[in-house]
Amino acid sequence: MQADLFFKRLLARFEGEKARLDALDAAVGDGDHGTTMLRGLTRAAQAEAGRRAKAFMRASGGASGTLFGLILIAIEAHLDEGAPLGAGLATACERICDLGEVKVGDKSMVDALAPGAEALEGGDLDAAIAAAEAGRDSTKDLRARRGRSQYVEDGGRGHIDPGSVSVVMFLETLRDLGAAS
Ligand SMILES: [Mg+2]
Repeated sequence: MQADLFFKRLLARFEGEKARLDALDAAVGDGDHGTTMLRGLTRAAQAEAGRRAKAFMRASGGASGTLFGLILIAIEAHLDEGAPLGAGLATACERICDLGEVKVGDKSMVDALAPGAEALEGGDLDAAIAAAEAGRDSTKDLRARRGRSQYVEDGGRGHIDPGSVSVVMFLETLRDLGAAS
């Protein structure tokens, strides 16, 4: 049941942040990150228990839908089945790096996810969020080497990667769930 609440809260959070995420993405890409995430999260919230992350993956579509879906699958397995979160996110991060052909320093979601997952191995969500936030903020000075951002002026330097913003919001929503239960 925790996963149901998580996906409801995540949907509400992204409804509030959609415009900001689209604007962030407009600076480095095609301006649809908030819209894409919200489309997936809307379907996830409507899906049956245990199928929410996969519903997100299908509905949001495209490469980024698959990559963010991998994170949500790990979170759903953690909340529904008690799978260890740190290990799940570390595995998701490896698969994202492999499928997306991306690594830390390329100005992507991985810059927040990799340090966050690593900090979570110690079991502390607050430490993971702090590490993910630092990674997110580091993307501002990076030049993109993957995705659409690499083709914008100076590889999008001066702008935070919207995917890394979303990763931090996933972790914050998880922490708020723990605080409430
Ligand atoms: Mg986009």
